[in-house]
Amino acid sequence: PPFPIVLTGVVQRGFGRGGKDLGCPTANLPDESISPMSSVTQPGVYYGYAQVSREKDGKAVLPEEDGQVFPMVMSLGWNPFYKNQKLTAEIHIMHDFKSDFYGHEMKAIVLGYIRPELDYVSREALIEDIETDKRVALSSLARPAYERFKEDPLFKTSA
Ligand code: ADP
Ligand code: MG
Repeated sequence: PPFPIVLTGVVQRGFGRGGKDLGCPTANLPDESISPMSSVTQPGVYYGYAQVSREKDGKAVLPEEDGQVFPMVMSLGWNPFYKNQKLTAEIHIMHDFKSDFYGHEMKAIVLGYIRPELDYVSREALIEDIETDKRVALSSLARPAYERFKEDPLFKTSA
């Protein structure tokens, strides 16, 4: 099995396509950071853990989160903007951040696959499915075998 897959990179600005409107902001990683996902490439929703560096440009911007590791759901897809030849990964962290963290280093461990990409007839249906994804992620991560990934050395080194 390809998991765990480690992804790291500086959070980029996306197209702002309503992530926040849906109550589900998704932090984008730069293209280079996504190459470890080429071992799976299956578009869809994944789950795992993520951490955002507290510091940006040497200043502590997110002191509250202070190196905490949170559950996450990640959407992996082929980017239509690049004629579907480029993968994009967007990570929603299950934590209520008080501010944005563009430009911060983000580290993630991808641990499993939840479902393929689906088309939605309505915004409500999409929001409902995101909620299901979060529940699936949390119950999977609750397995004792996954606990150690939250303590992975990846999350101990300072960004
Ligand atoms: P964009 O198109 O720029 O990715 P989004 O609406 O998807 O815009 O918002 C993503 C941004 O929101 C992230 O880059 C991050 O700075 C911020 N953010 C705040 N809370 C979260 C969270 N819980 N998970 C992911 N990103 C978050
Ligand atoms: Mg986004």
